[in-house]
Amino acid sequence: MKVTEHIENAKGKTLFSFELIPPQKGKSIQELYDNIDPLMEFQPPFIDVTTSREEYIYIDKGNGLLDKKLTRMRPGTLGICASIKHKYNVDTVPHLLCGGFTQEETEYMLVDCQYLGITNVMALRGDAMKDEQSFVPKVGGNKFAIDLVRQINDLNCGKYLHEVMDADNKADFCIGVAGYPEKHLESPSLQSDLKRLKEKVDAGADYVVTQMFFDNAKYFNFVEKAREIGITIPIIPGIKPIAVQRHLQILPQIFRIDLPEDLIDAVDKCKNNADIKQVGIEWAIQQSLELKAAGVPVLHYYSMGKSENIRQIASQVF
Ligand code: FAD
Repeated sequence: MKVTEHIENAKGKTLFSFELIPPQKGKSIQELYDNIDPLMEFQPPFIDVTTSREEYIYIDKGNGLLDKKLTRMRPGTLGICASIKHKYNVDTVPHLLCGGFTQEETEYMLVDCQYLGITNVMALRGDAMKDEQSFVPKVGGNKFAIDLVRQINDLNCGKYLHEVMDADNKADFCIGVAGYPEKHLESPSLQSDLKRLKEKVDAGADYVVTQMFFDNAKYFNFVEKAREIGITIPIIPGIKPIAVQRHLQILPQIFRIDLPEDLIDAVDKCKNNADIKQVGIEWAIQQSLELKAAGVPVLHYYSMGKSENIRQIASQVF
């Protein structure tokens, strides 16, 4: 079922969902199952699986020189989606990226999704690679998320990249896109980022999932501004619990988000990691309760592969 249908069927009740990262190459899918199992009691109607970009690794050639190789450390998004869907009888949402994929490769993935009965996809650009100044699409790839939305929408109209005979099996994908309550890091302003979001919606996006935020006022302001410019589709808040001290530095650095002073003070007062984890859980519970009271359609948790803190939050909220 489509994410938007799940939301409609819930008739105003807030749903629970979460996002998983594929295990590193060589690791077992069992570690994902072990993290999903405790969360199934909260009946997620859909589970997202992220896609990692390729990255450069450096291999020592033994003569003092390094070989630079492009590799994907966490492949397998679609296989994981199929496997979770089958094992738990739940909808899964693979994240599709512009970065690192040609349009042709993307089309193959979408065809695989159709065969697997996967009807929801998140259309994302991806970040620049570590040693790139700015995002560079693969030759023959999509440049912005909107181009990917258009490509998926074309398939929904039975339009393949190259003409096919008897395109009788039209796709019917429900398309999610990213939104940024504190604006995307490359965007000159929130207003201009919102205009880009509106363009993605006009191109065919069906729902938005937001970047993490720690101050609900940022989300409420974002939704209000989005509605003002005519974005009417569901805007699902993304929640991430702080789990370690380092999050105070790396989350603002990577995602250009602000952390509230009260949260920073609470983490600073902690004596050990267990205390920090607890602060993160309690903060996320308060955020979730307020968002739920405001009637958000879904609370979507960034699990980063660890379910225990999400389970504790969900048990207080759902
Ligand atoms: P876009 O919508 O293309 O926007 C990127 C930037 O370009 C923005 O600043 C926008 O304002 C600007 N822009 C858009 N259109 C134009 C235009 N026509 N001309 C000029 N500027 C324009 N990353 C991963 O690698 N894997 C994942 O699985 C993943 N999942 C995510 C899930 C969520 C919910 C979110 C919020 C992010 C996720 N990301 C993921 C991160 C995402 O790939 C990055 O934030 C990326 O930098 C931007 O992606 P986007 O889809 O928002 O890009």
